[in-house]
Amino acid sequence: MLRQALLLLARSQQVKEVVTRIPVSHALVNRYVPGEETALAVEASRVLIEDGLLVTLDFLGEDTNDEAHAEATVTAYLELLEGLSHAGLARSSEVSVKLSAIGQALPDVGPKLATENARRICRAARNTGTTVTLDMEDHTTTDATLATLHELRKDFPETGAVVQAYLHRTEQDCRALAHEGSRVRLCKGAYNEPEDVAYQDRHDVDKSYVRCLKVLMAGDGYPMVATHDPRLIKIASALATRYGRMPGTYEFQMLYGIRGEEQKRLAEAGEQVRVYVPYGEEWFGYLMRRLAERPQNLTFFLRSLISQK
Ligand SMILES: Cc1cc2nc3c(=O)[nH]c(=O)nc-3n(C[C@H](O)[C@H](O)[C@H](O)COP(=O)(O)OP(=O)(O)OC[C@H]3O[C@@H](n4cnc5c(N)ncnc54)[C@H](O)[C@@H]3O)c2cc1C
Repeated sequence: MLRQALLLLARSQQVKEVVTRIPVSHALVNRYVPGEETALAVEASRVLIEDGLLVTLDFLGEDTNDEAHAEATVTAYLELLEGLSHAGLARSSEVSVKLSAIGQALPDVGPKLATENARRICRAARNTGTTVTLDMEDHTTTDATLATLHELRKDFPETGAVVQAYLHRTEQDCRALAHEGSRVRLCKGAYNEPEDVAYQDRHDVDKSYVRCLKVLMAGDGYPMVATHDPRLIKIASALATRYGRMPGTYEFQMLYGIRGEEQKRLAEAGEQVRVYVPYGEEWFGYLMRRLAERPQNLTFFLRSLISQK
C-alpha cells in the first residue's frame, strides 16, 4: 500500500513542488544523487572508477511534454559525454537514457522524436568510445521503447535494453533479446503497475527474476544483473558458473548510494560491477521510487520534516 502510494505521488506535480522546496529533501537526495551539475557527476564517477567500478550516468528527468525541454536533455547528455571524454573516463562509463525525457510522451510526434533524439546521443556516445542503455519506464511505454531499441540497434547494435521482472511479458522479452551482442539489463521494476500486467507479490517478482536470469545467462547476449538483493546476486553467480560464463561476459549493476560495500566486494572478487549514477535537478521522481523501495527512509524523511516545524 505504502509503496503504491509513494509511486502515485512520484507523478504528482503539486507534491513535487512542495518536496523539492524542503531543505530536508536535499539531505536525503544526497544519499542517492551526487549532485545537480555535470561536473559533480563526472567527479563521482571518477571516484567510483578509481575503486575498480564502472558507471552508467543518468541525467535525471522524465515525462517531458515540451519539445524544448527534450532538446535541453539531449544537450545535457552531449555535454556529459564530452565531460567524460575530457576526464578520460569514457571507457569505464556509459549513459542511461529515459525516452520520456527526450520526447516519447509528446502527442503524435513522440516516439519518432524520442528515437531521433536517442540516435543523436548514441552517435555521440560511439564517438567518445562508449554506449547507451535505454531505461525502461512504466508498462504503457514498453512496446514503444522496445521499438525504438530495435530501430537504434540497426545502426548502434551496442545499445542496451532494460527489462523488468515484475511484468508478466518479460520472460518472453528476454528470449527475444538474448542474442549475440545484445546488452540486457534485468531489474525488478520500479513503477506502480496493475495486476493484469505485473506480479504484485514480491516472491512472484523474485521467481520471475530468476526465470529471466536463466534465459539471459543461458543465451548469447550480455546480461546486466541490476539488483541489490543478496539472494539474487548469489543465484546470478551460480547461474554464470552453470552456463560457463566468465566475469566480463556479464556484469552486476547497482544504484549510487546503495550497498556501496557490496559493490566493492564484488569488484574485488573479480566481477564486473557498474554503478548507476543519476544527477541533475529533476530528482523528485527518482527519489520517490527509492523511498518506495525502502520505507525506513520515509520514516527518516517524515521525522526530519516534523523536527523542522
Ligand atoms: C542499475 C540499475 C538500473 C535500474 N534501472 C531501472 C529501469 O530502467 N527501470 C526500472 O523500472 N527500474 C530500474 N531499476 C530499479 C529496480 O527496478 C528496483 O526498483 C531496484 O533496484 C530495487 O530492487 P532490488 O532488485 O534491489 O531488490 P529489493 O528487494 O528492492 O532490495 C534488496 C535490498 O537492497 C537494498 N535496497 C534496495 N533499494 C534500496 C533503497 N532505495 N535504499 C536503500 N537500500 C535499498 C536493501 O538492502 C534491500 O533489502 C534499476 C536498478 C538498478 C540497480
